[in-house]
Amino acid sequence: MTRAFVTGASGQDGTYLTERLLAEGVEVHALCQPGEPTALAAGVEQHVGDLTRVDEVRSLLVDLAPDEVYNLAAVSSVARSWAEPDLTAQVNGTAAVALLESALQAQEKSGHPVRFVQASSAEIFGEPACSPQDERTPVRPVNPYGAAKAYAHLMVEVYRRRDLHAVGAILYNHESPRRPETFVTRKITATVAAIATGRADRLELGNLDARRDWGWAPDYVDALVRAARADQPRDYVVATGVSHSVRDFVAAAFRHAGIDDWSGLVSTNTAFERPADPSELMGDASRARELLGWAPTVDFEGLVGRMVDADLAR
Ligand code: GDP
Repeated sequence: MTRAFVTGASGQDGTYLTERLLAEGVEVHALCQPGEPTALAAGVEQHVGDLTRVDEVRSLLVDLAPDEVYNLAAVSSVARSWAEPDLTAQVNGTAAVALLESALQAQEKSGHPVRFVQASSAEIFGEPACSPQDERTPVRPVNPYGAAKAYAHLMVEVYRRRDLHAVGAILYNHESPRRPETFVTRKITATVAAIATGRADRLELGNLDARRDWGWAPDYVDALVRAARADQPRDYVVATGVSHSVRDFVAAAFRHAGIDDWSGLVSTNTAFERPADPSELMGDASRARELLGWAPTVDFEGLVGRMVDADLAR
């Protein structure tokens, strides 16, 4: 039986991933921060601990000797990384590297291969000079989140050269009804649903012109699993290849909720703007399509519709 070790198991991607692995019959172990474990699916074996406590996590991983490791734990929001850059560096950067080292030690001590997937991010490209980006695009982050993720991403290659099956999955924005409202998509769909049902009267946002390549989170989890199990460890851009502005997202969400004239319902507030914000991130996932047989299954309108429907039903 395949044994998997998942960090960040209670987050959006972690819950989709653990549910999927359990359905496949995989034995799933999750690292959970104290106070977090109840959010996990039944059947997940929970280990309470913090990723930044390297020695404890290392001995756990060496004991478990898992076949697959998925590192999804992170300070996951760019917005929060500006407020806590040092914590972001620790969790998204050095702790991820410590986990790579732990996986290598587990592999060496057990004598059987460990497949490691690092949830990397489009934010490693910062304000890229070319669009769309692919695996060869220069790594040049512009915020604390991207810089910490970039360090871990570069170390994936270092560990690959040491014979660890290490994958850097360069994930573009991926959303679902499980996204917290700290992300713009869910903030929009939750507020639009509240407006449509008379529980709110306006939506306040920051930069409406930013363009992102938004996909459906379970598709991105599928890419992680495919990359873990591919013959060769590689980096993969995981993206839809289509970008939309925040304004487009707002318009689609109101339209789906049956509100055509939304201009008076939305205002901007500089409090929601960032010190630096990539104007467009859009990925070319040709490699994942060709080598992993991966493709997104939900388009932009479908994504917005699913999220608005879920918020209307709450
Ligand atoms: P990110 O791409 O990982 O930073 O994901 P977010 O969902 O947090 O932000 C996506 C884009 O939406 C960024 O360009 C933000 O600057 C922009 N944005 C505009 N208004 C807001 C807002 O009120 N909250 C958030 N989180 N982002 C906003």
